[in-house]
Amino acid sequence: MRRTKIVATLGPAMDAPHVLKDMINAGVDVVRLNFSHGNMEEHRRRANEVREAAVKAGRQVGIMVDLPGPKIRVTGFADGQVELNEGDSFILDPRIPPESGAAAGVGVNYHNLAADLKQDDTLLLDDGRVVMKVEAIEHPRILCRVLEGGTLSGNKGVNRLGGGLSSQAAGDKNRQDMRQAAALNADYVAISFPRCGRDIIQARESLRDLGFSGGIVAKIERLEALAAIDEIIKATDVVMIARGDLGVEIGEAGLPAVQKHIIRQARCLNRVVITATQMMESMIENPIPTRAEVFDVANAVLDGTDAVMLSAETAAGRFPIKTVIHMAQICIEAEKQDAARISRHRIDTRFSRINETLAMSVMYAANHLEVKAISVLTESGKTPMLMSRISSGIPIYALARHPKALRRMTLFRGVYPVPFDITSVSAPEQHAEAAAGLVRLGAAARGEIIITACGDLPGRGGGTNSMKIIKI
Ligand code: PGA
Ligand code: MN
Repeated sequence: MRRTKIVATLGPAMDAPHVLKDMINAGVDVVRLNFSHGNMEEHRRRANEVREAAVKAGRQVGIMVDLPGPKIRVTGFADGQVELNEGDSFILDPRIPPESGAAAGVGVNYHNLAADLKQDDTLLLDDGRVVMKVEAIEHPRILCRVLEGGTLSGNKGVNRLGGGLSSQAAGDKNRQDMRQAAALNADYVAISFPRCGRDIIQARESLRDLGFSGGIVAKIERLEALAAIDEIIKATDVVMIARGDLGVEIGEAGLPAVQKHIIRQARCLNRVVITATQMMESMIENPIPTRAEVFDVANAVLDGTDAVMLSAETAAGRFPIKTVIHMAQICIEAEKQDAARISRHRIDTRFSRINETLAMSVMYAANHLEVKAISVLTESGKTPMLMSRISSGIPIYALARHPKALRRMTLFRGVYPVPFDITSVSAPEQHAEAAAGLVRLGAAARGEIIITACGDLPGRGGGTNSMKIIKI
C-alpha cells in the first residue's frame, strides 16, 4: 500500500469519458481545482463528477480549490501565442484588451504593475521560460527587451527576479473565488502567494465567514514567505512547496535545500506538507518519466512529504492516467527504504497535549514491535494527523463517521480513512470494535499484533487518551 498521497490537478485532459474514473482508480487521493484556469461552471461540474466517481470506486477523494490570489498574469493573444526572440522589444500594457496581444506586446491583469517596477528589473514570464529586462516605464506601459526568448501563451504568470511583486487589486475577485470555494464544499482551499502568517489568518477568517470549514493550504511561492516560514506554517493546516513560482523568485538552484527545510519544519510543527510542480513534467508529452523525475519524486518521499502533486501533467497532458500510475509506483518503491520508515524525531521533546502524547506513544510502540496495523477512532482526524508526523511503515487506519473528516485525511501520509459510525459503540467496546474493523478490512489476521487508539467519550473530538496492544 502506498503511504504518500497524490494530488492531481483537474483540467481539459480529464474531461474525456472515463479519464476521471480511471484516475481515481489509479490512486489519486486529492484533486485540485485550479481557479487560475477554466470557469466556475467547469469547476462545479468537475467537483460533482469527482464525488460521483469516488462513491462508485468506494474511495475517499478530497477536493482542493486553489485560489489564484494576487498572481500577476499576461492576458490573451489574438493568435493564442507568440514566439519571442532574444533582443526583441516587447510591451506589457494593461490597456491592451484581453485576447488581443501580439508579438509587439500584451495586456496584463494588474493595472498598476508599472508603479511597482523600475528600470533594469528582470521579469520572468511563464515560470521563467521567457525572460525580459525592463528598459523603460511609461506609466502604465512597461517597455521590455527579451533576454531569453520562447513561446508565450495567454494567462501565463509574470514574476520579478528577487520577488516582491503582487497585485494589490485582486481583492474583489479573491472574495468571489472564496465564496465559490465555500459553495463547492471544498475540503481544502489553497492560498497563493502569502507573505506572512497574517495573510493566512485573514484568509481563514474570510473563508470561515463564508461558511467554509475545511483545511487551509499555504502555498510557499515567494521570497518573503521564506523569512516568515515558521509563522506561516503555524497559521496554516497544510503547506505547499510551490516550486514553480518559488523557483522563479529565489532561483531554482535554491529549491532543494528549501524543500527539505520546509518539509522538516512542517512535520515538527504538526502540519501537513505537499511538494508541487514539475514532478513529472516530461509526461505532459511522453508516456514515461525521465530518470531525473523518478529521483525527484522518490527524494520528496524520502524528505518526508505527505503528498506529491501533479499540475499540467494531469490537467492538460497527453498521459494523465499513466502519469498517476508511474508516480504511485515511484512512491511505493521509495517508501520501502529504511529512511522512509524510521523516525528519531521527538525522542527528546516534551508534549503539551494528551492526544499528541497518545499519538506519539502509539507510534513509538508500533515502530518498535512487530505491529501489523494501527486503528484509531477519530472525530476530526486530528489524532491520525499527529500520528503520521512520525515516519513509519505501519498503516494507520482512521475510523471516522464524518465525511468531512474522512476527506480531510486523504492528504495525510500513511493514513487510510475508513467510514465507521462510532456512536453506535459503547465506550468499553471501542478497542474491540476498532480491532474488529481492521480484521473486516483484511488489514490484520489471527495471530498478528495491532494497536488501537480511542477516547473515553465516543463521538467527542480531541479526547483520544487510550491505546491497547492486541494480538488478534
Ligand atoms: P500554481 O502554483 O500552479 O498555481 O502556480 C504552484 C507553483 O507555483 O509551483
Ligand atoms: Mn504558483
